[in-house]
Order: sequence, then C-alpha cells, then structure tokens
Amino acid sequence: PPLYMQRYQFVIDYVKTYRPKKVIDFGCAECCLLKKLKFHRNGIQLLVGVDINSVVLLKRMHMLAPLISDYLQPSDGPLTIELYQGSVTEREPCTRGFDLVTCVELIEHLELVEVASFSEVVFGYMSPGAVIVSTPNVEFNPLLPGLKGFRNYDHKFEWTRAEFQTWAHKVCRDYGYSVHFTGVGEAVGHWREVGFCTQIAVFQRNFHGSMSNAERLEPSVYRLMYKVVY
Ligand code: SAM
Repeated sequence: PPLYMQRYQFVIDYVKTYRPKKVIDFGCAECCLLKKLKFHRNGIQLLVGVDINSVVLLKRMHMLAPLISDYLQPSDGPLTIELYQGSVTEREPCTRGFDLVTCVELIEHLELVEVASFSEVVFGYMSPGAVIVSTPNVEFNPLLPGLKGFRNYDHKFEWTRAEFQTWAHKVCRDYGYSVHFTGVGEAVGHWREVGFCTQIAVFQRNFHGSMSNAERLEPSVYRLMYKVVY
C-alpha cells in the first residue's frame, strides 16, 4: 500500500490495541484519517479534527456524515465528530483531556519556533495520554527518485533520525513522557540502514491517571466547522 495508507494504518492499529476513547487529529486536512477511524472505531467516543486551513477542511468533511448503515447497525455507543479550524500552536481549552493526539506529517510544516510552541501546547497544556507524531526521515531522501531538496515545497525542515529523537527526548524530559521510535516504508538490502521513509514517535504520558473532563467545553479559540453526533 502507498505510504500515506501505511501511516493511517499505523494509527488504526494503535487504536485497535490501546482503545482510546477521545482522539484528536491535528493537521487533519481532508479528514482521510478521521474517516478511517470512524470506520474502525474500536470504542472511540469523541473524534476531533483540527486544521489551520479551513478550505481543505470544508472540501471533504461531508464524508464524515453518518451513513444509513451507521443507524442500521448501531455500534458501541454514541460517537461525536467535531472539526475545527485552528492552530496547534494555540492553547484551546476544549482540546484537553484526550487519550490520543495524532500529528501525521504535520510538524515539518511548522517553522522551528512554532515547533517549540507546538511541544508546549500539545505535551504541556493538552497533556494527552498518548501522542503519535510522524515526519519525513531526510536520511531516506536519496532513495526517492528525482527528488531535489525537500519532499514538499511547504516543508520548513526535514529531520534526520538523530534530530527527531533529540527533539522527542527533550519533550519527554520537559513534560513527563516516554517515547519509542518506529516508522513505515522500509528500504531493502543494505539501504535498510537509512531507516524508515516516514519516522514515527509514539509518546506515552508517564502519569497514568485519567485527566478526562466529563463535560465538553465550548471552543474559545478554535472555530467549529462541523459537528455530528450519532
Ligand atoms: N495529516 C494529513 C495526512 O497525513 O494526510 C495531512 C497532512 S498535510 C501534509 C499538513 C496539514 O497540516 C495541512 O493540511 C496544513 O493545513 C496543516 N497545518 C499546517 N500548520 C498547521 C497548524 N499550525 N495547525 C494546524 N494544522 C496545520
């Protein structure tokens, strides 16, 4: 399967294993991952997507609308889906108390100073139970045919494994998380040494208590674009 599907599948497998109830996807763009998670719910009760770009959000958000089959085969309890226009560098009270935050191919679109705010907001302020961050591994780039420079014109940086791990370990020290590294898209033969095409860090909060607030707060910074309960 193509690389982006492998990234989504990684998150789906994680959800299947750890069964988070509240999941938020930052940089959700056209909501492809959200749509897959809606299908592979595994007990998810609240699914939130956030993107800074309202135009991409609006494009395909109707895909999240309930299908007839969702009513014919009622699954595990009600599901709420919310989409917001907002930035991961801003503190939004209604993003606290989540079990899982996913950031698939998001951080490389931030300026490095914004990555610092991102770390503070996501790990320090939101303090979710777990965070999955994926980003290109620049060491793999020589294997991509015809590539000059970064993989996408909008990338502000692409990190080596060492750079990604240095950032992740600092986040763990600063905010009380543990991390392990993996990835998707592997080369063959001796090229395996360059690592995965997409590098992934999976963070787990060291404090295990639940921080879930029962009541759903109204957004105060983000703009609600779409909401469906079923
Ligand atoms: N996660 C999706 C996926 O894997 O298919 C899309 C990733 S796309 C390469 C990066 C997305 O991050 C874009 O939709 C962009 O608008 C969004 N983005 C960039 N900066 C952001 C920010 N500060 N806060 C929230 N989203 C942001």
